[in-house]
Amino acid sequence: MNKPLSSAASNFIRNIIDQDLAAGKNDGRVATRFPPEPNGYLHIGHAKSICLNFGIANDYNGTCNLRFDDTNPEKESVEYMEAIKKDVEWLGYQWHELRFASDYFQQLYEFAVELIKAGHAYVDSSSAEEMREMRGSLKKPGIESPYRNRSVEENLALFEAMKNGDHEDGSHVLRAKIDMAASNINMRDPALYRIRKVHHFRTGDAWNIYPMYDYTHCTSDAIENITHSLCTLEFEDHRPLYDWVLDTLDTASHPQQIEFARLSLEYTVLSKRRLIQLVEENHVQGWDDPRMPTVSGMRRRGFTPGSIREFCAAIGITKKDAWIEMAMLETCVRDDLNAHSERRLAVLDPIKVVITDFDDSTATALQFANHPQNESLGKRDISFSAELYIERDDFAEDPPPKFQRLVPGGEVRLRGSYVIKCEEVIKDANGQVTELRVTHDRDTLGKKPEGRKVKGVIHWVDAATAVDAEIRLYEPLFTVPDPASAETMASVINPASKTVLNGCKVEPALASAAAEERFQFERIGYFVADSTDHSSSTPVFNRTITLRDSWK
Ligand code: ATP
Ligand code: MG
Repeated sequence: MNKPLSSAASNFIRNIIDQDLAAGKNDGRVATRFPPEPNGYLHIGHAKSICLNFGIANDYNGTCNLRFDDTNPEKESVEYMEAIKKDVEWLGYQWHELRFASDYFQQLYEFAVELIKAGHAYVDSSSAEEMREMRGSLKKPGIESPYRNRSVEENLALFEAMKNGDHEDGSHVLRAKIDMAASNINMRDPALYRIRKVHHFRTGDAWNIYPMYDYTHCTSDAIENITHSLCTLEFEDHRPLYDWVLDTLDTASHPQQIEFARLSLEYTVLSKRRLIQLVEENHVQGWDDPRMPTVSGMRRRGFTPGSIREFCAAIGITKKDAWIEMAMLETCVRDDLNAHSERRLAVLDPIKVVITDFDDSTATALQFANHPQNESLGKRDISFSAELYIERDDFAEDPPPKFQRLVPGGEVRLRGSYVIKCEEVIKDANGQVTELRVTHDRDTLGKKPEGRKVKGVIHWVDAATAVDAEIRLYEPLFTVPDPASAETMASVINPASKTVLNGCKVEPALASAAAEERFQFERIGYFVADSTDHSSSTPVFNRTITLRDSWK
C-alpha cells in the first residue's frame, strides 16, 4: 500500500551511509538493528525508529535485526516480546535475524573478565549512595572509589562470586576504570554489571548479574556486525563510552553510533513508563485501547501500516528535537483511508422516516459504487423501502441560517435515490421527534427535480434491512499538548475521549465486515470493525478519524 518500505527520502544518516559506501567502509555492507526492550508495547515513536532502521536496510540492500535488549528482567516478559514482534510485522517489516541481548550473556561476561584482566574494570563495594556522592557533578569532578585499585586477582574472584550468587543485590558492582575527572559524567567509571537475583524470562535463574545498557548495547552491536547503530539523541553523551568499550576490547567490528531526534507528538505521551501508568490506572482499557499511541492501539483504531510509514517519512530524520502536531499524523491516515476504503451507509443517531406514498411492492435495489474514484472496487446493492432512518441532526424543526437539509415542508435528496418532502413531524410526550412522515418525488431517481433546486443531500439506511451496531467515537486522550509536563496525568485526561453509541443503524453489508476491515461511512468519517468485539451478530465499529481535520 502507498508508502514503500523505504526510510525518509534523504536525511543526514543516509548521507553518512552514502559517504561510508563511497569510501569502501564495512566492505560495502549496511547492517542496522532495532533494539527494543521487551518492557512494554511499541508506540509511534518506536515506529519512527523501525521505519528508519528497516527502511535503510531495505534501501541499501542491507540487513536489519530485531534485537531484544532484555537486560532488566524484572520489567520484561514474553507477552511484551510477542507483542513487539507482531507490531513490527504489522508495520510491514521483516527482520533479518531475531536476536536477544541475553543470547550474549556468556560472551559479555567473558568480555568483562578480559577488561578486568587488562586492568580496565574493577569491583566496587561502595553503596549506591556513596557512589552517587563520589560521581561528582557537571561542575565538580568525581572522586576515585577506595576500591578502585583492587588487584586483578581480587576483582576476578569477586566478579565470579557475584556471578555465582554469593553476594546480595546492591552489595557490589563491576565498573569500568576510565576517568573520575572526565567532563562527561558517563565516563566517570560507569557501572558495567550489577547484581540482580531475579528470574529472567529467557535465561531463567542462570544469572545473578546482569549487564548495564551502555555495556550491552555496544557489545551486542559488535557481535552482530552492525555497521550503523542508530539511536535517539539522549544517547549522544553515551557515545564516548560506546566507543571506549569497543576500543578497549578491540572487537573485530566497531559499529558507528549515530543519534537522531526522538518523536514527540502533541496531545499524547510517548514513554513506556507513562503508557504503563495509563494502563495500570485504568485510564484506558489496555495497551491496544484505540486512544493509545501504541502500534496496537493505532491498529485497533483503524490506522493503516502504510499511513504510519508515510507519517514517519514525512516527519523526516533530524538532529533536532521538535514537537509534531497530531494533525500531521491524521492527515496521513485520512489520505490513505480516502484512497483505499470502501464507502458504506451508516446512521449514528437514527430518526425514522416513513414515505407515505411509496409502494414497497415496486421497490428495487439501488446500486451504489463502493468508491467514488476507484471503479475496480465495484458496486453493491442497497435496498430501499417505505421506512428509512436518517441522522437526527439532518433534520431541523427550527433550522439555523443556511441549513440545507430536511426541514418541515422542505425537500432534500436521499443520497443515491429520491427527493423527499417532509410533510409531518411526529413527537413523543416529551416533545422529542420520533418520526418524520414524508412524500417522495417518483421522478427524481437519478434525475434532477423539475422546476426547482434541491441543494441538500443526506444519507440514510433502509429500516427493513438495517442492522443495529455499536459505534465508538474517540477524541484525544489528553486536554493539553504536553501531558507529560502536567502535575499528574489524571488531571489532563480528556473525560470525553470515548463515547459509545448503541442502536446505530448500518447497512447490512457492514454486519459481515471482517474484523479490522476499514470503511468510510459516507458523510461521517472513517471507521473500522473492532478487532476484538465485532461480530456479524453484534457489529462494533471504532471511529478512526473524522472526514475533515478537526484540529484547526
Ligand atoms: P521509552 O522511553 O518509551 O521506554 P525507550 O527508548 O526506552 O522508550 P526502547 O525499547 O529502549 O524504548 O527503544 C527501542 C528503540 O526505539 C531505541 O532505539 C529508541 O531510541 C527508539 N525510540 C524509542 N522512543 C522513540 C521516539 N519517541 N522516537 C524515536 N525513536 C524512539
Ligand atoms: Mg529503554
